[in-house]
Amino acid sequence: MFPKLAEELQSKPLSSEIRELLKLLSKPNLKALLSVHDTVAQKNYDPVLPPMPDDIDEEEDSVKIIRLVKNREPLGATIKRDEHTGAIVVARIMRGGAADRSGLIHVGDELREVNGIPVDDKKPEEIIHILAQSQGAITFKIIPSVKEEMPVKEGKMFIRALFDYDPNEDKAIPCKEAGLAFRKGDILQIMSQDDATWWQAKHEGDANPRAGLIPSKHFQERRFALRRPEVQIQPLKISNRKSYAECAGHNSGSYLAGFRRSFRLSRKDKKTNKSMYECKKSDQYDTADIPTYEEVAKYRRQPNDKYRLVVLVGPVGVGLNELKRKLLISDTQHYGVTVPHTTRPRRSQESDGVEYMFISKHLFETDVQNNKFIEYGEYKNNYYGTSLDSVRSVLAKNKVCLLDVQPHTVKHLRTYEFKPFVIFIKPPSLDRLRETRKNAKIISSKDDKGTAKPFTEEDFQEMIKSAHLMESQYGHLFDKVIVNDDLATAYSELKTTFDRLETETFWVPVSWLHS
Ligand code: 5GP
Repeated sequence: MFPKLAEELQSKPLSSEIRELLKLLSKPNLKALLSVHDTVAQKNYDPVLPPMPDDIDEEEDSVKIIRLVKNREPLGATIKRDEHTGAIVVARIMRGGAADRSGLIHVGDELREVNGIPVDDKKPEEIIHILAQSQGAITFKIIPSVKEEMPVKEGKMFIRALFDYDPNEDKAIPCKEAGLAFRKGDILQIMSQDDATWWQAKHEGDANPRAGLIPSKHFQERRFALRRPEVQIQPLKISNRKSYAECAGHNSGSYLAGFRRSFRLSRKDKKTNKSMYECKKSDQYDTADIPTYEEVAKYRRQPNDKYRLVVLVGPVGVGLNELKRKLLISDTQHYGVTVPHTTRPRRSQESDGVEYMFISKHLFETDVQNNKFIEYGEYKNNYYGTSLDSVRSVLAKNKVCLLDVQPHTVKHLRTYEFKPFVIFIKPPSLDRLRETRKNAKIISSKDDKGTAKPFTEEDFQEMIKSAHLMESQYGHLFDKVIVNDDLATAYSELKTTFDRLETETFWVPVSWLHS
């Protein structure tokens, strides 16, 4: 560039500007710069494409030659043979993968050649083999699909997985390597729902843009429904005849109005048949509720919002009551429990609205009919029950309501109004139970005196079995699992959970965001 320019300038009448410019151009640094420019400008950095084949027939005028440079990352596309035409077509483009990012390959494109090798007589597996072997640039000859893909509106939907999934164990997945493994409770971002059977998703917050395949809700529901003849039915009878007291040494003995033992199931009560509580038939395990995914959104409690209802569940004897009691007495202004209803007569030392709300049998029955109870039972010819209104009245006092119920009632509480946060109190291993509950007692209210007896080996085993059953049947509803091994540690974990709940952001079902 410089010699040519200098030549031209010199041929002109030398004005002072031209002289100045010539002087500038002759400086060595400028000369060097221009010489670099000339070298770079002459070089061709485009890939050398193979010449356009000249044997293309008339019908093939829409053929597209694509050249992708492949690194170690998979291409992020799957292929299949079209059932009708027999052609090899692109079945799926994984969102965020190499093919997707190139923007050059689309679902439905017909693949004609890979690196000059015709593929129409090859099986998809053979083509995949060719692709896997190719390093560096790969040339595809394709016939673009007529139908363009829908504009990308995905990536806005989040779901909570309610089951564990491992693509390696899934015989139905079209491509195991393209699958996305996840655990119950994981939050997934849906990247594509174009396919009715296989959605594309990634783990929420995952920096890697590449999506993986997951079974669609509908498909997974169908598979679960077929797999589920051995569905466990929730026992109809519940009772509070025996419930856990304290770990010895932790019992402060202080009395709290309205604080009572929970109505959870124990082994003996299941065996004996007298004075049982009967729960509503509708509370049985509902085979139509097949837990697959639930659409979620972020929720953060605003200062004026009511507190979320905290539901505690766990097997009898696990120490749930002790944890609840400790929390309650830590701040009685902040935490509250519900006052149950009963039809039994008030005892002399009791006051209406403190220990119980005393109501008539007739009213109780009407309330049952009107679905006013979360749970209820019958004991010695009297009804006892916890109403939805009793929860509301704790929340209305701007308190955090602590409720412990059988896990099958949780699904009725999962509403916009209560936004329940469910904490499962889980027993530790059998060895740790023996160790930590050596001096503890379990209360049996069989004789109405609440006699406390040391835990037996059978109690421990029953507790673990019951916890296991609860987790497998209702684990998808648990927001937090706390293992009650050492009581002080479990309590501090519980307290931290409560503190976080009031200030931090949580994923909740989308329906809880709008009434
Ligand atoms: P009491 O009449 O001695 O106060 O209580 C009798 C039984 O009823 C106790 O074992 C108590 O735990 C149980 N009970 C108290 N409130 C409720 C309730 O809301 N629901 C159920 N199912 N049982 C309750």
